Amino acid sequence: MTLYSHSKIETYNSCPLKYRFNYIEKAKTQIKGTIEAFMGSRVHEALEKLYKDLQFERKNQLQDLIEFYQNQWDKEWQEGILVVREDYTVDDYRAMGVRFISEYYDRFAPFDQDKTIGVEEYILFDLDDQHQLQGYIDRLSYEGDGLYTIHDYKTSNSLKTAEDADNDRQLALYAIAIKKKYQDCKRVRLVWHMLAFDKDVIIEKTEEDLLKTLDETKANVKKIEAATEFPDNKTALCGWCEFQPICPHFKHLWEINRLLDNKYLSDEMASLVDSYMRTSEEKNKVEVELNKIKEAILIQAEKQNMLTVYSKDTRIRIWSKEVVKLPNKNDPEYPGLVNTLQRIGRIDEVKSVDTWALAKILENKEWPLEVRKELEPFMRKEKISRLYPSK
Ligand code: SF4
Repeated sequence: MTLYSHSKIETYNSCPLKYRFNYIEKAKTQIKGTIEAFMGSRVHEALEKLYKDLQFERKNQLQDLIEFYQNQWDKEWQEGILVVREDYTVDDYRAMGVRFISEYYDRFAPFDQDKTIGVEEYILFDLDDQHQLQGYIDRLSYEGDGLYTIHDYKTSNSLKTAEDADNDRQLALYAIAIKKKYQDCKRVRLVWHMLAFDKDVIIEKTEEDLLKTLDETKANVKKIEAATEFPDNKTALCGWCEFQPICPHFKHLWEINRLLDNKYLSDEMASLVDSYMRTSEEKNKVEVELNKIKEAILIQAEKQNMLTVYSKDTRIRIWSKEVVKLPNKNDPEYPGLVNTLQRIGRIDEVKSVDTWALAKILENKEWPLEVRKELEPFMRKEKISRLYPSK
């Protein structure tokens, strides 16, 4: 049986390369997680303690929980935790966690709304005869009459909408597990406690929704197991990725930063990048000047009806021709041009194969396999590289 979790599947969907680093190579880097995840774990621990102790008839005062949170923060803190948002400090995040716990406590005390069945409840169920899905439910409670509730604490700063909740696979998968585990379970309610907003998002899924989630999850597992390549997917979320120091997009940046900390080390690639940038800026300036000179020569020559112009040592011959230009595919007039060609019955004479579009269709496997096979003899794989400098 191969074990999967929601986060394993989501890692693949967000960036296959990150999946490879994390789950295949089990790579480690100097980044020990992000401050958001660190703060989230400490808040989860405090709420876990609150409900675990309640199961043993011990009710923590808010101050006890805050003290526990602060102690855990100091105990677990380590070098290498990434603070991506440079405008905020570690202490800002620490204070956020205190607020989350306090607001939650004040809203739900004395915590008698339901009966806690489990905290950090482990779930495991068969997706099919070869794969299992595992996870941990932050808190599982029972409301009576066959109704179970799955509680999930969220410490992120973006408020989940009802639509996000509907599309969320994690709690839906946990609901499937609870239905399988507890035979008296008739309904499962999914609750996201959005701690940053002191608000809850609550939904219930139908049997049909759960079956759909199960099918999607199986399809995702199939896709992962069929993967032979694990391409990168660079997005704004890369800033929070712990594999930056080994990712091709960021490893040089990490190397440079390490070298900047030590004046005795140097980096050949960095000086090549600097030279490239300097030279390309000079080239751009020269091109601007060249265009101005060319324009001046053409204006003067036209005024004086000259086709060859001279200096003491050289001469320039001027060649001019009026050419026909037509709107290209990106031009709003292009559809009109195509319609006109069709109307006058000339489209077949000028229509050429758009090989770029054809290559895209083949790359994206948009046509059936038998059609693609017909075109295979024409397909050449070529590595193209361009440089896009930026500051
Ligand atoms: S930094 Fe971005 S592209 Fe690189 S592995 Fe991480 S998520 Fe993927």
